[in-house]
Amino acid sequence: MDFTPTRARGLDRLAQFLPAAGRRYADTRNADNGPGDGHGRNNVSQLSPWLHAGLISETEVLDAVLSQHSPRGAEKFIAEVFWRIYFKGYLEQRPAIWDDFCTGRDNALAALDANSGLRAAYTKATEGRTGIEAFDVWVHELTETGYLHNHARMWFASIWIFTLKLDWRLGADFFLRHLMDADAASNTLSWRWVAGLHTKGKHYIARADNIARYTAGRPEGALAAARLAGDEAEPLTEQQDYGRQKLDLPAPVRDADLAKPFALVLHDEAAHHAPLALPTAPALVIAAGRSGARSPGTLGFHARGFAEDALASGHAEAAAAFGCPAAVWAEGAPLAPLLAEAGITRLAVPYLPTGWTRDALWPELAPLVGEGRVVTLLGDLDRTTWPHAKAGFFGVAKAIDGLLAECGTRDEASKINPVLTARR
Ligand SMILES: Cc1cc2nc3c(=O)[nH]c(=O)nc-3n(C[C@H](O)[C@H](O)[C@H](O)COP(=O)(O)OP(=O)(O)OC[C@H]3O[C@@H](n4cnc5c(N)ncnc54)[C@H](O)[C@@H]3O)c2cc1C
Repeated sequence: MDFTPTRARGLDRLAQFLPAAGRRYADTRNADNGPGDGHGRNNVSQLSPWLHAGLISETEVLDAVLSQHSPRGAEKFIAEVFWRIYFKGYLEQRPAIWDDFCTGRDNALAALDANSGLRAAYTKATEGRTGIEAFDVWVHELTETGYLHNHARMWFASIWIFTLKLDWRLGADFFLRHLMDADAASNTLSWRWVAGLHTKGKHYIARADNIARYTAGRPEGALAAARLAGDEAEPLTEQQDYGRQKLDLPAPVRDADLAKPFALVLHDEAAHHAPLALPTAPALVIAAGRSGARSPGTLGFHARGFAEDALASGHAEAAAAFGCPAAVWAEGAPLAPLLAEAGITRLAVPYLPTGWTRDALWPELAPLVGEGRVVTLLGDLDRTTWPHAKAGFFGVAKAIDGLLAECGTRDEASKINPVLTARR
């Protein structure tokens, strides 16, 4: 699979995958057929790295899918795209989950330094030397390719938590450091889901027969997973009850909001201007890459490379498309001199969802927001879907038809079945 981090390659991959987004996806998506084009990995889109980087948008993906399939024919794939939007909206209403993850991760990393037994177990796991064949294979696949199939992520997280009994936050951090699609919302909430913290008391237990069945198409054959924790494993619990806070979302941007010269800030989660559909051209394009902020640890080659090159390609393409200068807002450097040098006082900033990109950029941006100098860009699909992400996915699933119609993505001809779409 060619994971070149450009918008053109993301659109190519989307076009290539489209014919399979209907029944074929629904029937075959659970199989982890291993990496490589020669096998069956084409049963899933592998679009997540481009989606996370904002090189392509969920709206573009849904539009393309619905140009070739009926909403019912592609309902499983459409639902999965909405899982991504759901997790974003859910975390946006409970940002303390992210803050507590960061604190818990730091404490868990410190505990490794204080406990050599724990450190040895962690090192064995992250080097793929546990003796659980399937797990060890996925560790190598993750670190060597930057991608894991969804089912493998679920089994991996389950084995990490319930068999290896390692802190879930260390596993989530390991994923963030190595996944090209590393995403604060999808990753943190999926790990919590496996642990039994997202849907309280309902955890996910990996089973050897299930792993063997769904990995039978891998080039090396079905993966073995002996001595896994079974049904006796208890879901994790926690003291905190994360209450929902009210969403405060920006209104759609009007031409008048961008009438004065402004700089467009591209960041790791919005690396390309095209999905933003700006009504007016910026006078300056600023790249603000903060991919290293996702973890105190070292990032994997593919994770770092995809993030950095995605922003570099989007930045260059924006400057060329708008015929304007480009500047880099480097980590640790102040933003003000860049703006002063260009004689610009206003900014357009793609919405910064809860996560490390926001954590890294917000301290500099917040005063400008307070002074009314920042226009925040948020797509219609997020603005309309996030309010439905109050609790379980079902709230979003049953709204999908209306959301697609509201965002102009489809007509209301045939409805998507909310019961089917609620199943993972
Ligand atoms: C423990 C764990 C950690 C995860 N961490 C991440 C992460 O950091 N970043 C990330 O993007 N996804 C994460 N996922 C969700 C999911 O595994 C990936 O989005 C999916 O495997 C990406 O591959 P794909 O593009 O081929 O997906 P496809 O099956 O082709 O689905 C199309 C798109 O729908 C979205 N999607 C699909 N499944 C899910 C899902 N279960 N949850 C949320 N969105 C989904 C993705 O944007 C994906 O690109 C995680 C899942 C688990 C169980």
